[in-house]
Amino acid sequence: MRKKIVAGNWKMNNDLGQTEALLSKLLKKMPETETEVMVAPAFTNLRMAFDTLIQSPVEVIAQNMHFAENGAYTGEISADMLKSVGIQTVILGHSERRAYFNETDETLAKKVDTALEHDMTVMFCFGEELEDRKGDNHFKVVESQLEKALFHLKAAAWKNIILAYEPVWAIGTGETATPEQAQEMHKFIRKTVAEKYSDKVADGVSILYGGSVKPQNAKEIFSQPDVDGGLIGGASLKAKDFVAIVEAI
Ligand code: PEP
Repeated sequence: MRKKIVAGNWKMNNDLGQTEALLSKLLKKMPETETEVMVAPAFTNLRMAFDTLIQSPVEVIAQNMHFAENGAYTGEISADMLKSVGIQTVILGHSERRAYFNETDETLAKKVDTALEHDMTVMFCFGEELEDRKGDNHFKVVESQLEKALFHLKAAAWKNIILAYEPVWAIGTGETATPEQAQEMHKFIRKTVAEKYSDKVADGVSILYGGSVKPQNAKEIFSQPDVDGGLIGGASLKAKDFVAIVEAI
């Protein structure tokens, strides 16, 4: 059985004190669940968050990392740095990294390789823009993103890959893909992985949906057979909403 996962991407929000306050609310409200729950605070708060959640089932994950081992990359963070503060999972390829920091599928392939070489798990984000969907190119775009960034991997590496399909037009916009649109794309993604690798690899990989998931729409989206959970932005900043989304699975 593949894992159900709900992850909160806190982006560039919350200083140290605000992060402590949010973590403390989460700790109080988090139900016992089989779902894997993850939160991604800013780099400066990772160590404190890791220490705070060490006894809880909630995993602290990172929002990004560089592909190089170390060196003259001002402002960047390496896999070893993340691991040294307890981080095992990293989000790569978020659409905001692609749009504002020029991350391409080629750069992302290198980041994926580095993370896997360090025995980390990668939560790989991808998804089409509005023009792609309007032009009926969304399946082609998604297939190409997977091919360029992930399909060089050996089948065995996929045990450390989580996919997060995030249509760019639905991120932070309040516009959610309908449950049918999410299912249609997730099914396509699973078929694409099965054709490249095997049914075993495709059936084992968790595919999360991300894009304006809220307590009000989470249940319907998560009830789709190929949707294995969600990557949550805005709604993960409120403990009550995030917990409600975790409970919706
Ligand atoms: C995200 O940034 O990954 C995301 C899904 O954001 P939101 O839930 O705010 O649309």
